[in-house]
Amino acid sequence: MKFISTRGSAPALSFEGALLAALASDGGLFMPEAWPRLQKDEIAALAGLDYADAAYRVMRPFLLGDPCLDDLEDVLSQAYEGFHHPAIAPLAQIGPNSFILELFHGPTLAFKDLAMQVVSRFMNRALRRRGQRATVVGATSGDTGAAAIEAFRGLDAIDVFILHPKGRVSDVQRRQMTTATEANIHNIAVEGTFDDCQRIVKALFGDRDLNTKLGLTGINSINFARILAQIPYYFTAAVTLGAPYRPTAFTVPTGNFGDIFAGYAAKAMGLPMQRLVIATNLNDSLPRALASGRYEPQGVIATSSPSMDIQLASNFERLLFELAGRDASRVRGLMDDLRSHGAFQLSQGEHGQLSELFSAHSAGEDVTEMTIRGVFEETGMVVDPHTAVGVAAAQQETSLGSTPMVVLSTAHPAKFADAVKRAIGMEPAQPERLTLKLGSEERCTVLAPDFETVADFIVSHAQAAAPLSGAQA
Ligand SMILES: *Cc1c(COP(=O)(O)O)cnc(C)c1O
Repeated sequence: MKFISTRGSAPALSFEGALLAALASDGGLFMPEAWPRLQKDEIAALAGLDYADAAYRVMRPFLLGDPCLDDLEDVLSQAYEGFHHPAIAPLAQIGPNSFILELFHGPTLAFKDLAMQVVSRFMNRALRRRGQRATVVGATSGDTGAAAIEAFRGLDAIDVFILHPKGRVSDVQRRQMTTATEANIHNIAVEGTFDDCQRIVKALFGDRDLNTKLGLTGINSINFARILAQIPYYFTAAVTLGAPYRPTAFTVPTGNFGDIFAGYAAKAMGLPMQRLVIATNLNDSLPRALASGRYEPQGVIATSSPSMDIQLASNFERLLFELAGRDASRVRGLMDDLRSHGAFQLSQGEHGQLSELFSAHSAGEDVTEMTIRGVFEETGMVVDPHTAVGVAAAQQETSLGSTPMVVLSTAHPAKFADAVKRAIGMEPAQPERLTLKLGSEERCTVLAPDFETVADFIVSHAQAAAPLSGAQA
């Protein structure tokens, strides 16, 4: 299968090519040239499989004919070894017809582990196959960086530079990143917002010379491989609830639109899906776009669910490509409007299509806190603020009838202990693997929110030009 750019003028690449490039050379995002479909019986056959086996069957069609296909089985058999639940992504029930999909059993206690543990292994193997090194650069509002550092630390073909907005990630998130001691890991605290970090990363990727010199690659959810590794849990959850014979609805706590886009992909592959609900905190550019057809990101508001403090949802471009009937010139036009006027307007047809499958609801800080309390009082279960935003959005959704609703639980409550304590008066239990991390010394460099400054730092610390030797990782 080939991967094409949403902006239409970059050459199509193999999966391995798109994995290593992350962003297309025309500034667009990679998409599969067509969605592979799983037949009803193939979906039904996922029931009862080990998570890694189910993931193999869901991901395989995207890799046909690609060198990475030979890695898939090994990558998946290792990727989930550090998870602390045998089901990897278990379902819990919180109401008569509502469920929580627990995606936080990985090493950094957030759903990002599910994809990052897969992507890091694919990348190191692909680089070793090509005898190359790469430099991973990523922006994080907290969880991506922690998951990336955990997944890439110690890999021999890759240096990792993670930018986070200084003072805008939780204590636990920061420590999970800055306590890594491996020489290939570099933390940069940018004096600005997540959007500043993301802007700098985009500018780095837009710089041809730097790209060549460093072998830049990205692990933010702009990398299609991340999206790909998030599709399987939609299938495993839906099959547990009766797919393909019964549709499911999902609510997804949303920031960059990567996780929910994986849900869209699952539907495009044939999973019966009644509705996808976009849940946001006060950063509500997507719910406003759903209501009006006009996408107009505003200033970022800091909330108790910081991994969703995002106004400019990068992966929304992938959905635009679909809504526009895969017309890349239309996507370019909309993205030009966004760049020059700070907004774009969907056509009636595009807006109509968007609303057919998606709903969107935002939850303010009070509602989020009340929801943590409500779930605790009704079920005894402690949910984190991101998950609570999801539960609150699911409660606002009235279109469901008898369809089961699955809320994606994207972080373990111990990662956001302060917010949880405010809501229920006590701290969530802290898993031992987190306690061990938090005591260690921190390593981090503070830099101005400025492209040149960050680029200079990376150039002087990356080993991209050093020879690659040693055994296959
Ligand atoms: C990253 C993240 C999200 C948002 O996911 P996107 O793919 O960016 O929409 C939600 N919750 C948590 C805990 C996260 O780490």
